Parts: sequence; C-alpha cells; structure tokens
Amino acid sequence: KLARANGSIQVVLVQPRGFCAGVVRAISIVERALEKYDAPVFVRHEIVHNKHVVDDLKAKGARFVDEIDEIPEGAVTIFSAHGVAKDVEISAEERGLPVIDATCPLVTKVHLQGKRYLSQGRTLILVGHAGHPEVEGTMGQIPGTVHLVQTEDDVAALPVSRDTPVAYITQTTLSIDDTRGIILAIKDRFKDVIGPGTNDICYATQNRQMAVRELSKIADVILVVGAKNSSNSNRLREIGEEAGVPSYLLADGSELKPDWVRGAQIVGLTAGASAPEGMVQDVIEALRKLGPVDVTNLPGVEENVEFRLPVQLHAL
Ligand code: SF4
Repeated sequence: KLARANGSIQVVLVQPRGFCAGVVRAISIVERALEKYDAPVFVRHEIVHNKHVVDDLKAKGARFVDEIDEIPEGAVTIFSAHGVAKDVEISAEERGLPVIDATCPLVTKVHLQGKRYLSQGRTLILVGHAGHPEVEGTMGQIPGTVHLVQTEDDVAALPVSRDTPVAYITQTTLSIDDTRGIILAIKDRFKDVIGPGTNDICYATQNRQMAVRELSKIADVILVVGAKNSSNSNRLREIGEEAGVPSYLLADGSELKPDWVRGAQIVGLTAGASAPEGMVQDVIEALRKLGPVDVTNLPGVEENVEFRLPVQLHAL
C-alpha cells in the first residue's frame, strides 16, 4: 500500500473527458446497423481508436477489416470516424458494397475546406501526422497535391516558392500549441496565406486539452485513459508532460503502474475522445487497490454537441 499524508489518494477527474460527439455517433452507427441489418456488418479500420470499443462491437457481430477487398460482395460496410480516401470509396462502389459513412462531420468539414482552397487555385498544406488514417483520408479526398507538414522544419523545406498563394488545413486532433507554431511558420514563409478562422482542431480536442492544462496546475501526476494509437489521447499526455507534470497513457486499470502514482498527493485523471467512461472507472478501481481513494471533479466546459446519424439509419 502507498503511504499518503492524509492516508488517501486524491483523484481529480476533469471535465470534459472521454467520448466526443463524433465517437458517440460512430459507435451508434455500428450498433444501429447491427440492429437493422443481419450480422455481420463490416467496418473498415477500427471504428474509433479504442480496443475496448472495438471488442464490444465485435461481440455484437461487427467485423473489422483493413481493406475493402476483405469484405464479401454486397455486405454492409461502415467507414470509420477518421474518414477514408476517395479510392476507398471507389473500390467499395466497384464491389457493390452498401456503405454507411461514420466519418465525423468535423473531419468531413476539413475535407470540404481543403477542396474549396484547392479550387481557388491555392497550394494546399495539411498540418498532421503521417500515417494517421485521418491524414490518409484527407489527403486522399482532395483531388490535387497536398503537402503534409508535421513540423516547422517541414514548412521550411516545402518545395513551394514564397509568392505562391497557399492555404492550410489541420488534422482535427493535434495539439493547439503545436499547430500554432507550424501555422506561424507557414505565415512567415509565404506571402499569401489563408486558413480556417483559428484552425481545424475540433471542439472536443480543444476542450479536453484546455481541461488538462487546468489539471496540470494542481496534479502531481496525470493519467490519460486512451489507446496507444489514439492521436488525441497522445496529445493530452504530451500537454500534461509539457506543463511539467509526469503524464502517462493507459488503456485501462490493468496498465496502471504503482510507480507512476507513488508519493503523489493528487492524481489527475482524464480520457481521450475515444476512451469509454467504463475504462476511467476501471483505472479508479485499480488505484483503489493501492490504497484508499477520494474522487473529486474539476469543473470545466459543458459540451452539448450532437451529430445526426446518416440518413440510412434515421428510420430506426
Ligand atoms: Fe470528430 Fe473531434 Fe471526435 Fe475526432 S475528436 S471524432 S474530429 S468530434
């Protein structure tokens, strides 16, 4: 057992945390599709980046595949919340797959924004992480060259002249601070730059990041519940770390290491946009095994964003 001055571990839960509107919608799409159509329904890529969510849907009859050609002809097919490239849409169409698109509307908004900039004759720059499915989807939705930049150095190395009119778009789940620096570098490097109002970082990412920043003022250690491949969860961990608070990412209580919280008076707890609340509770249970735990809430922004389901599922 861990020794504490007052004998218990103070766990501070931040608001908002966990599921965003895009994740709630994506999970409901798979659940509704399973009610409406016979199992299995096929989902291309993890519907959201969380193994617990995926396993739960698997148990209900969803099958997850990496590529469209793994899906039998005619089978109901769902695209994940991260969005897909145009060629994925085309190959699904060629195979005659009835598709339900769970792409988050905020990701679709970035696709449309990018297409609009390109049609204005601008050279397009995407701020994002190479290899992330959202980035692959966005690059593959835009019918022209998209320059991906991940760092300020990438901006300096762009093979584009200073006078070229450029526009930028950003991955929805980056850290606000990282994009700020890169966008400044773009504005510095090119004469004629346009981009979305602030940037495309989505409301859920911004709110969760702001909440962790507040949490970092009081916590001795920060635990972020989320998957290793979840972009927004990784950013939350980095934000805690950048604020000088040791911060760890864990999928559930089984991954908690007692060393992380040893000697800490206040353990801050949050969850990425794709992490179920049940896993937050699981982490609290794991902390309880180390000693008595007091849970308090740190108030924050109240979210009431909801996205409509795709038209195929409205009648249910
Ligand atoms: Fe949509 Fe933002 Fe959630 Fe991603 S994190 S699914 S962009 S609401």
